[in-house]
Amino acid sequence: MVDCCSNDYLGFSQHPALKQAASEAIERYGTGTGGSRLIGGTLPLHQQLEERLARFKQCEAALVFNSGYQGNVGLLSALVDRHDTIFADRLNHASLNDGALLSRARLVRYPHLDMDTLEKRLQESEGIKWLVSDTVFSMDGDQAPLKRLYDLACNYDAWLVLDEAHATGIFGDQHRSGLWETTGLPMDSRVIVTGTFSKALGSFGAYVAGAQTVINTLINKSHGFIYSTALPPAVIAANLKVLDLVEQDPGPTQTLWDNVGLFCRLLQEAGIDVVGQSPIIPLQVGDEERALAYSKKLFERGFFVQAIRPPTVPDGQSRLRITLGTGHTPAQIQELARALVKVMTS
Ligand SMILES: *Cc1c(COP(=O)(O)O)cnc(C)c1O
Repeated sequence: MVDCCSNDYLGFSQHPALKQAASEAIERYGTGTGGSRLIGGTLPLHQQLEERLARFKQCEAALVFNSGYQGNVGLLSALVDRHDTIFADRLNHASLNDGALLSRARLVRYPHLDMDTLEKRLQESEGIKWLVSDTVFSMDGDQAPLKRLYDLACNYDAWLVLDEAHATGIFGDQHRSGLWETTGLPMDSRVIVTGTFSKALGSFGAYVAGAQTVINTLINKSHGFIYSTALPPAVIAANLKVLDLVEQDPGPTQTLWDNVGLFCRLLQEAGIDVVGQSPIIPLQVGDEERALAYSKKLFERGFFVQAIRPPTVPDGQSRLRITLGTGHTPAQIQELARALVKVMTS
């Protein structure tokens, strides 16, 4: 089977250097940390990773969370007060919505990428404001207009929280730290960036990066950070290693973009409308049953492509969500495109 739905875009989960770093950390420190970060679970590795992350993200400080889900919930529930207002893209990841609900703030969900509507809502609002968005949307693969969001955040004196889960390791010429890097904007104190090690970085765990005061507040207030056992040494050591690999070698990322370009070109030539703004390429089907039937037919042809259905996506927007990776060969991509055209048009 050819796996076409993994988020391990750069194939790092199988990288020998990461496996070695993880094994060495197990040999040296064991398999578990034995406690939460603030009690006894912090190893030198955790602190090294957080310093390394701050450099990677070009900001003052960073904090490791146990997963992206936990980081987003832990961030919003700790920082946002119930008298504040959160403005969230309608297609944001569920973890951001859950964090918003737990904060008990007023939640305003604006139509996907609709900056004009967002601005109108901002004009009507009083009190402390938070703009919250995925940078690359997990089920649509498209990008948030970061410059526009940043301008709005400045003009309306709002905080800006960006989730780089699907962009970390993939965007940015110098560090490949995420889509924010491509804007050339500074990480000023109103910007807070989250992301995960579990996708292109091939491992597990997550981070929040931003101003030192933000990180200090999270250390003291975020339940997702305080009340959970520290990630094990093997995971942290792999995370430290992967940041070096991502920064030092643009090669894998380039291969990934070549694959995305090839796949989109082939589908466009066959008359299927796709945009390749990321390695996530959704093919809209609409009906749930039909999406499942397509997925089954592709499976019979040797391609594992999941049908994504409600509630992960809105009603009537079931789709095949294809993700490309560096592990796909041009021949496999051609074969996949042929199979898709056959299945979707027959
Ligand atoms: C996957 C994802 C998360 C959750 O990350 P995990 O580390 O898997 O918990 C958060 N936000 C977005 C946008 C995601 O796609």
